[in-house]
Amino acid sequence: MAESDGAAVVGGPGFKKAKVPTTHTGLVRQARKINRALAEVYPYAHPELDFRNPFELLVATVLSAQTTDLRVNQTTPALFAKFPTPEAMAAADPEELEEILRPTGFFRAKAKSVLGLSAALRDRFDGEVPGRLEDLVTLPGVGRKTANVVLGNAFGVPGITVDTHFGRLARRFGWTESDDPVKVEHEVGELIPKSEWTMLSHRVVFHGRRICHARRPACGACPIAELCPSYGEGEIDPVKAEKLLKYEKGGQPGQRLSPPPDYPGKPAPAAGGAA
Ligand code: SF4
Repeated sequence: MAESDGAAVVGGPGFKKAKVPTTHTGLVRQARKINRALAEVYPYAHPELDFRNPFELLVATVLSAQTTDLRVNQTTPALFAKFPTPEAMAAADPEELEEILRPTGFFRAKAKSVLGLSAALRDRFDGEVPGRLEDLVTLPGVGRKTANVVLGNAFGVPGITVDTHFGRLARRFGWTESDDPVKVEHEVGELIPKSEWTMLSHRVVFHGRRICHARRPACGACPIAELCPSYGEGEIDPVKAEKLLKYEKGGQPGQRLSPPPDYPGKPAPAAGGAA
């Protein structure tokens, strides 16, 4: 774990918990420091959904509601083998589609969204996923969060993706007090340069999934604890905190089942990082 500037061990004698900066400039500085620290902890941060093109990412993101990315990654190979394009998906038998999607939960609603958005892509966008937010959000089942995931990761358009992890961590870091995802997106966008938005989103979500959990954040094993105004909200005992870590931080694999693909918006690999 990192040590603070005064060399006091995090959580040890002399350690002072960080405070939420009171000025905008202070908050910008703290937010950028946290972003840089997260970049060092997760140089390999990436979208955890498997996809080979914008259509697959769009569908996978819709399917990821209320389930894990791993579950979606286990489901999509069979789905895209059978229905590889919007045209093929739009013509799918709804019952067959529901059966394939059943493991992801809420499978009837998800099948309806996937059929609807595939038909809309076929009829209104020549079978191509559009690269503009205002077009993407007109597709059935596609909200701002999904649109930003697709723009950021399949088109290289910077976007802040506010899911449950991002919102929770942004509040813990003191970047916002809001529960409204659109407000969170705009408030965080004021603190972090646009070119960093997509990678910031991945890093924060990685941290939320692995260490800064909703119910019991592993503060005692957190590498950015010295920068965090919410240190102590979770388990501070280093041994107990270590046991709360998930995925590769807890000695387990991540959620992807296949390596990230080549696509127009693919970020350059971080130096020293492993996918
Ligand atoms: S785990 Fe604890 S110290 Fe680390 S970011 Fe979350 S709340 Fe802050």
